[in-house]
Amino acid sequence: MVPQASRLNNVRYDIRGPVLHRARQLEAEGHRILKLNIGNTAPFGLMAPDSVVTELVQNIGEAQGYSDARGIHSARLAVAQYYTTLGVPDVGPDDVYLGNGVSELIVMALQALLDPGDEVLVPSPDYPLWTGAVILCGARAAHYRCDEQTGWQPDLDDVASKITENTRALVIINPNNPTGAVYSRETLLGLLDLARRHGLLVLADEIYDKILYDGAVHESTAALAPDLVVLTLSGLSKTYRAPGFRTGWLLVSGPRREAAGYLEGLELLANMRMCPNVPSQYAIQAALGGPQSITALLQPGGRLRDQRDHAWEKLNAIPGVDCVKPRGALYVFPRLDPDVYKISDDQQLVIDLLEQQHLLLTHGTGFNLDTPDHLRMVFLAGIDVLDDAIGRLSTFLSTYRQ
Ligand code: PLP
Repeated sequence: MVPQASRLNNVRYDIRGPVLHRARQLEAEGHRILKLNIGNTAPFGLMAPDSVVTELVQNIGEAQGYSDARGIHSARLAVAQYYTTLGVPDVGPDDVYLGNGVSELIVMALQALLDPGDEVLVPSPDYPLWTGAVILCGARAAHYRCDEQTGWQPDLDDVASKITENTRALVIINPNNPTGAVYSRETLLGLLDLARRHGLLVLADEIYDKILYDGAVHESTAALAPDLVVLTLSGLSKTYRAPGFRTGWLLVSGPRREAAGYLEGLELLANMRMCPNVPSQYAIQAALGGPQSITALLQPGGRLRDQRDHAWEKLNAIPGVDCVKPRGALYVFPRLDPDVYKISDDQQLVIDLLEQQHLLLTHGTGFNLDTPDHLRMVFLAGIDVLDDAIGRLSTFLSTYRQ
């Protein structure tokens, strides 16, 4: 018997949990599954810009050794310069840590911070790695409510009510996965004010910062709070369409002297993993400094924009389904009206949908939403595929009872 660590008892990551397991079984039985469950760009033909790939290929010979544990200097400099242009004052390459995706950096950032009994404010719904990584540290995720009625903006009163003497940090995911919300400056200033008053470390996950629709403006959290220690996380996976490169970054800004002990811990963890994958670090400078090809996909007539509009319209046309229009990111997060669909277990609903229609979506409670009445669909697929998927969902819902 090889037992599992009890530390993992409450750690969940449902995006790749039991539902995906069932999908793999069905595939092994020979069924074709339409997968709109993760924000993976390449299977939908959305590829990284050539200049980004070329930079990796041309430098591969230079990339055989370990790099500085924080990453190569030129890439860290490019990250620092990028945030300087966004208005984050006084940051340089020494304030940047590169990682094997934002995912690795989320785990490192929390491990360097948390002790058992500590609490972290995490949005509900959230990108569930945040909650999982907090729990992995033996700490507690205190979920604050994002309000569907206000386009999923965080409810500041609810955030305030969740702060205790054990609260150490505030997680802000903007633009948000799964809701597609882009937070107003007012909301961000409200969140930052709470962090300021309660001495919280701010963790800003901004991996979708350039994936915006309808003129939405993304405000850099760090730029709004130069007096606070803010960790900003982003990377190549979404805007630059290279999630397989596993390359992300973390910028530390604000009064770093106040966080010297914490940063020493972060450095220790960075050293312990030797360094992030080196070849793809060479792509960072080309990505941040090159033409921002994502923009063409987001304007009217652009692929992502059209797919978002289409998915949103078609979902809203299903009786009992309504959906806030996403203003950023790659997902729609429709609500199934509880008066029409009496769902008590949304994971079971997603499994039943998978078995009956061979369509793979993700259930809302998988994003730590406390009601079983939402689904998340990725809108990376072309319009024909989205039509097919939403048609299957509509057929399924028309007879589904739990
Ligand atoms: N943060 C958010 C909000 C995400 O949606 C994702 C991936 O979907 C990640 C982080 C992980 O990104 P990476 O591929 O850089 O690990």
